[in-house]
Amino acid sequence: MSEPNTERNAERNAEAHTAPSEAPGATEDGGTYDVIVLGAGPVGQNVADRARAAGLSVAVVERELVGGECSYWACVPSKALLRPVLVVADARRVDGARQAVTGRLDDAAVFARRNRYVTDWDDSGQALWVKSIGADLFRGHGRLDGPRRVTVTRDDGARQTLVARHAVALATGSRPALPAVPGIEEARPWTNRHATDSSTVPGRLVVVGGGGVGVEMATLWQGLGSRVTLLARRRLLPRMEAFAGELVTQGLTEAGADVRIGVQVTAVRRPDPDGPVTLTLDDGGELEADEVLFATGRTPGTDDIGLETVGLTPGSWLDVDTTCLVDGVEGAWLYGLGDVNHRALLTHQGKYQARTAGDAIGARAAGRPLDDGDWGDHATTADRHAVPQVFFTDPEAGAVGLTAEQAAAAGHRVETVDLDLNAAQGANLYADGYTGHARLVVDVDRDVLLGVTMVGSGVSELLHAATVAVAGEVPLKRLRHAVAPFPTISEIWVFLVAAYRRQREQTDAG
Ligand SMILES: Cc1cc2nc3c(=O)[nH]c(=O)nc-3n(C[C@H](O)[C@H](O)[C@H](O)COP(=O)(O)OP(=O)(O)OC[C@H]3O[C@@H](n4cnc5c(N)ncnc54)[C@H](O)[C@@H]3O)c2cc1C
Repeated sequence: MSEPNTERNAERNAEAHTAPSEAPGATEDGGTYDVIVLGAGPVGQNVADRARAAGLSVAVVERELVGGECSYWACVPSKALLRPVLVVADARRVDGARQAVTGRLDDAAVFARRNRYVTDWDDSGQALWVKSIGADLFRGHGRLDGPRRVTVTRDDGARQTLVARHAVALATGSRPALPAVPGIEEARPWTNRHATDSSTVPGRLVVVGGGGVGVEMATLWQGLGSRVTLLARRRLLPRMEAFAGELVTQGLTEAGADVRIGVQVTAVRRPDPDGPVTLTLDDGGELEADEVLFATGRTPGTDDIGLETVGLTPGSWLDVDTTCLVDGVEGAWLYGLGDVNHRALLTHQGKYQARTAGDAIGARAAGRPLDDGDWGDHATTADRHAVPQVFFTDPEAGAVGLTAEQAAAAGHRVETVDLDLNAAQGANLYADGYTGHARLVVDVDRDVLLGVTMVGSGVSELLHAATVAVAGEVPLKRLRHAVAPFPTISEIWVFLVAAYRRQREQTDAG
C-alpha cells in the first residue's frame, strides 16, 4: 500500500539527483533546483511528478509524512473505516443477505484494515516513490526566505537553503480550525486526526459540525458502536441541495444517532483528564460524552512558511489564478495549490490543480505559451463549476456543479428535475426498500446541466457520469442518447432526461 496518490506510476525513473546530506549541524547549501515543492501531500506529489515529466529538476520538502493528511488522517483512513460500516448497512437491506449479517462489526479487524491502508503511518513507500521519479526529498520544515529561496529546518535543527530557478509550489495543506469556545484546549477534543487514527471506540461521542467530515465521522463511529450525538448549527451538508442533508439526517437517526440541528457549543470542560467531557449548549442544555470531535472547518497551513518574506500575509488562504500562480507576487514563480488556495478542499481538485500548475510551470520554464484551449477556460470550469464531491454516509451523498439556488443566484435561467432513485428498477434490486433522490439543475437557455445531486446507496460510483455531463457541457438533447444498462441505478439518468423533456413540453404548451 505504498502507492502514491498520483496519476503516473513509478516507471519513469529519470536521472537521479544528489540526496540531501544527513549530517547534523549548521546551515548548508541544499542546491539549486528548477522547482521546489513545499509539502508532499497528494497535491505536492502530483505537481512534482508533472514538473519531472516536463524535464525539470525537483526538490520536495516534507516535515511530517510523505503522502500528507489525505493518506494518513483524512481520505484514506476515513474511507477504509467507513467501508465495512456501509457494506453491513447495505447487506441488511437485502433479503437473504440480511439473515447472514447477525453480529456486530469486528472493531479490531476494522482498525487493522485501516492500518493496512495507512501503511501503519510509515511513509517509506511513498518516500521511495518520490525518489523513483527522480525528485529529491528534503525532510524538515520548509519556509520561504525571499523570492525563489526556501530554507529547510530538520528536526535536529540543521538548516539547508534551496534555490529555485523557475518555481516554488506551496502545497502545505490545511489544519483543523477549532472554535474559540472556553475550555476547548484543556478538554483535548478530537480532530480529524483522532477521528481517523483511534483504535478505541468511545462509548459516547459528540460530533460538532454538520459538514462533510462531521457527517462521515458520525456515520463511522455510530456504525462502530459509539452512541453519537451530532450537533449542527444549520442543516446537515449545508452546501448541497437541502434534500441531501435531510436524507443523511434520516439515515443517521435510523442508525441510532441523535442529530440536533440549530445547536451550538458555548463551553467545554474536562476536569479529570481521564474522565468524561461536558459540553454546554446554547439551548441551555448540557451534554456529557467520552470524547468530542470538532469538525468545524479548516485553517490554511500557511502561518509558518515565510509568506511575509515575499510580501504576503502569513496564515491567509492564497489567492491564485487558473494556473495556481499566487496573486500579488512579481515574476510568475510562486504557485499555491490544493487546500492552501481554498478553491475546493478536496484531494481530487488539488490533484487537478497540480496537473494544471505542473504543466504551466513546464511551459513557462521552456518559454512556451500556455495552451489556453487546454487549461484556460476549462480550468475555470472544472475548478469552480464542475467540482464533484461524495460523502460516504448512509445513504451516500454526491453532487457536482451548482445547486438550484447557486445557479439562480449566478443569473442562470434554471429548471430542476427531481426523481426518487427507486424509479429505476436497478435501485430496488440493489436494496429492498431503496431510499434515494436525484436532482438535475438545467440551464434552460443553453440546454446543458449546471449541477447534479444524487443521494442513495451506491451513488458514489454514479457521480462521475454527472461530472462528465456537467464539465463536458453535454446538451440534454444529446444526453438522451446515452442509454444506461438495465437494471442499474444509473438508469435514473434516462428517466431524469425524459422528465426534463416532458417538463419543457408542458412549459412550451402552456
Ligand atoms: C476527515 C477528512 C476526510 C477527507 N476525505 C476526503 C475524501 O474522501 N476525498 C477528498 O477528495 N478529500 C477529502 N478530504 C480533504 C483532503 O484531505 C484534502 O483536500 C487534501 O489532503 C489536500 O491535499 P494537500 O496536498 O493540499 O494537503 P495535505 O494532504 O494536508 O498535505 C500537506 C503536506 O504538507 C506538509 N507541510 C505543511 N507545512 C509544511 C512545511 N512548512 N514544510 C514542509 N512540509 C509541510 C504536511 O506535513 C503535509 O504532508 C478529507 C479531509 C478530512 C479532514
